[in-house]
Amino acid sequence: MATKNVELVMAPREPHYVGNGFRVHNFIPSGYHLDMQRMNPFIMLDYNSKFYFPPTHEPRGVEAHPHKGFETVTIAYKGKVAHTDSSGGGGVIAEGDVQWMTAASGILHKEFHEENWSRQGGDFQMVQLWVNLPAKDKKANPKYQSIQNKQINRYHLNDNGGEIEVIAGEYQGIKGAASTFTPISLLNVKLESGATADFHFPEKNNTALLVIEGSIIINDKEEAPADHFALFENKGEVVSIKAKEKSVVLILSGEPINESIAAHGPFVMNTRAELVEAFDDYNKGKFGYLE
Ligand code: MN
Repeated sequence: MATKNVELVMAPREPHYVGNGFRVHNFIPSGYHLDMQRMNPFIMLDYNSKFYFPPTHEPRGVEAHPHKGFETVTIAYKGKVAHTDSSGGGGVIAEGDVQWMTAASGILHKEFHEENWSRQGGDFQMVQLWVNLPAKDKKANPKYQSIQNKQINRYHLNDNGGEIEVIAGEYQGIKGAASTFTPISLLNVKLESGATADFHFPEKNNTALLVIEGSIIINDKEEAPADHFALFENKGEVVSIKAKEKSVVLILSGEPINESIAAHGPFVMNTRAELVEAFDDYNKGKFGYLE
């Protein structure tokens, strides 16, 4: 099978703050070639690269805000996030855990560093992905998949080369922990120095990776160091990764949803009229209330 070539390796852009708790580099949608359609169904990727937050008695984070029409996926690499929503739900996303939140018809929530963690302070590293929903699923009821690290199935590479956590999709027969509305692979790849792993994705899928730790060589050609993002062409199926040092890589690949996108802030709909309606519903309190 043909190699899926790298189209672009991107360095992290200048970070910005989401609330006062998330210091993120935005990769999708970015100023390069990556509009919301290019990596669809992945319509947003914010990356809090490893950053030290000093101890505080007032947890940092983002106050109550809505989401509608898509899913938010939070992957915690370091630190802990506590979330609370308008339906009375809540929980903590700890190191290694994944929260897959289907906002769909609409949810109001807040995201803060967990209280005890905040008192101690420490390194914080996290990815938040927004995954689009097809029009027919945008009205689904909101739900959570709180996936603890121990619930994630993993594939062990030969010769103690490392392991691949299958968050969604499938790898070598190992099935992902998360259920998705459209075909998506989300893999957390942990490689020892010098180890290699191959991956197969359908040609039509939009595919990219983010280097969380270490440094890798992709397809024996392109080098991608920590905090860099590589976008792949929609040609070929095979991606190979070699770790130059002990590395962690998040790989995302998904079948595009071929529908129009009308997005503004936390609402991602198909048409302008639906967007106006979403704002209207939010202002009328239809998303519920949260202190
Ligand atoms: Mn949010």
